[in-house]
Amino acid sequence: MADYKKLLDDAYKEIKPIKSSISRFEIPEIRSSVQGNKTIFSNFLQVASYLRRKPEHLEKFLEKELAAKGKIEGDRLVFIKKITLNSLSEKIKIYVEKYVLCKECKKPDTEIVKQDDFQFIHCLACGAKHSIAKI
Ligand SMILES: [Zn+2]
Repeated sequence: MADYKKLLDDAYKEIKPIKSSISRFEIPEIRSSVQGNKTIFSNFLQVASYLRRKPEHLEKFLEKELAAKGKIEGDRLVFIKKITLNSLSEKIKIYVEKYVLCKECKKPDTEIVKQDDFQFIHCLACGAKHSIAKI
């Protein structure tokens, strides 16, 4: 009996997500430190995989936005420039808005689709598709 009830509960959850799970998307905390003339973004891979984006895509965006050369070393992204945690976090926020969140439903369950010379964000939650600028 208990199992049957659990089954029903699970089914219900799948159809109707609990309110808290559709609240605003939270970007994971960014960890970075300046060492000499370099900046180490230490949880870079973790952030990229949380956003479900290719590390190279996020890297390219950050390099361009911060006008800094970067290099992926293991889990970390190392910039040859001093960058404050604030400006790094700010850029990641912009990335999320431009390349992760669906413009229709604001959910992060999206993928980047390439079609000919264009790139789109395809939302897996609502099916919306909108074009994005190439980095
Ligand atoms: Zn959507």
